[in-house]
Amino acid sequence: MHTIQDLIELIKTNNPAADTTMVELAYDFTAQAHAGQKRLDGTDYVQHSLATAYTLAKLKLDLDTITAGLLHDVPEDTEVTIEAIEKNFGKEIAKLVKGITKLGKIKYRGLERYAENLRKMFVAMAEDVRVIFIKLADRLHNLNTLDALPPVKQQRIARETLEIYAPIANRLGIGELKGQLEDAAFKYVYPDEYAWTTKVASERYEMQKAVVNKMIKAIKALLADNKIEVVNIGGRIKHYYSLYRKLLRKDMDISKVYDLVALRIVVKDVASCYQVLGLIHSQWKPMPGRIKDYISQPKPNGYRSLHTTVFGKDGAIVEFQIRDLDMHETAEYGIAAHWHFKEGGKNKVVSLPPEQLKWIKELLDWQKDVKDNDQYLHLLKIDIFQNRIFVFTPKGDVIDLPEEATPVDFAYYIHTHIGHTTSAAKVNDKIVPLEHKLKSGDVVEILVDKNRAGPNEDWLKFVKTNQAKSHIKNFYNKKRSRLLDFFSRGK
Ligand code: MN
Repeated sequence: MHTIQDLIELIKTNNPAADTTMVELAYDFTAQAHAGQKRLDGTDYVQHSLATAYTLAKLKLDLDTITAGLLHDVPEDTEVTIEAIEKNFGKEIAKLVKGITKLGKIKYRGLERYAENLRKMFVAMAEDVRVIFIKLADRLHNLNTLDALPPVKQQRIARETLEIYAPIANRLGIGELKGQLEDAAFKYVYPDEYAWTTKVASERYEMQKAVVNKMIKAIKALLADNKIEVVNIGGRIKHYYSLYRKLLRKDMDISKVYDLVALRIVVKDVASCYQVLGLIHSQWKPMPGRIKDYISQPKPNGYRSLHTTVFGKDGAIVEFQIRDLDMHETAEYGIAAHWHFKEGGKNKVVSLPPEQLKWIKELLDWQKDVKDNDQYLHLLKIDIFQNRIFVFTPKGDVIDLPEEATPVDFAYYIHTHIGHTTSAAKVNDKIVPLEHKLKSGDVVEILVDKNRAGPNEDWLKFVKTNQAKSHIKNFYNKKRSRLLDFFSRGK
């Protein structure tokens, strides 16, 4: 359990120049508003507010977000109004609290309500993504105190976390929070699998520990000999749920999972990353097909690092992840890193959504056209929550699409006009049919025919993205209304 002093201390550690007066005031204000209220686990309500704010501070977010985290349940669960919050804490903080309050409590109370809440959530996210950071932090504490709830509610909250919140954290690139949310929910949704996974992982880890420690020693010496400045070296253990998902793809055979423990090396710049990679390969043989350069080709959520898997002595197989401090921040905090304190104590607030937020805008574009909630949830699962593949343009730009996407989906992703005039497609330099299913790593080239009148309506049978579907449908709707117009005028 955290105290307000812990919270202040954490904020000061991240940013010694921070003025925490507002945070302290918000704590007193919240404690008073929730006075007498208890959580189901018997603790004072304000503990929940504090835990939420603490998670936000761990993400190194700005003071407004942390303050709003403290206040997040006040308008919903107490007599104190949003106007009173605005009067005491200003417009910016009130806006964030209002965003959270508007979301209400998302519950599986019937499909309608569930879909409605999701829609609201994406609107709130587009307005200010910090609202979702608060929601995720709120959710994490609710999961960590789930034991106090009846089993039916445990199931609902845990499932919702795996299906909605964790995928959102993932798409925002907040790796650490995503892992924590998943592991906390995993236990409740799949108790047997959870017990099995943790057992298998700890046995395997015991086996590998000695080898890994030897390897850390060896790599430290190697880097020192070559005068490479190291910020940090350490082993990181894979989160359980993500390990379990990987085991499902590897015949449940943990010896086929090479990154249970990965050695993470943080150095001071990009050039050093490649240097370290070279040194590792000069010492240990790399496993073919496992060298990944996410620096020159980042993952769509912004993740950058070099990965390689090598054969150590005594047959041990170890994965290395090499990055600089900047990449490390992005890997741990994703989009949240944009709100981090910058030198001089001032935090820089990004007003324009960065590239990694583009999908939210796209989602808003199509969600207003889909009235049927059943269909909406189905589409959302494909667009947001399904596994994504990464493909490349001929120039090497990375594009992420849902699994089983086709060249037509790719074309519409690039530009509506390219989609409309697509005549053929090449994948890895070979002509393929337009319904060809793309795979991660494919290089896709679209051949357009400028004289083409428009898309083929049959494409609707195989395209996967809602973007492609709605552009094709719109094209035909417009065409039909023009024809209708023409004939009615003719009469
Ligand atoms: Mn809450």
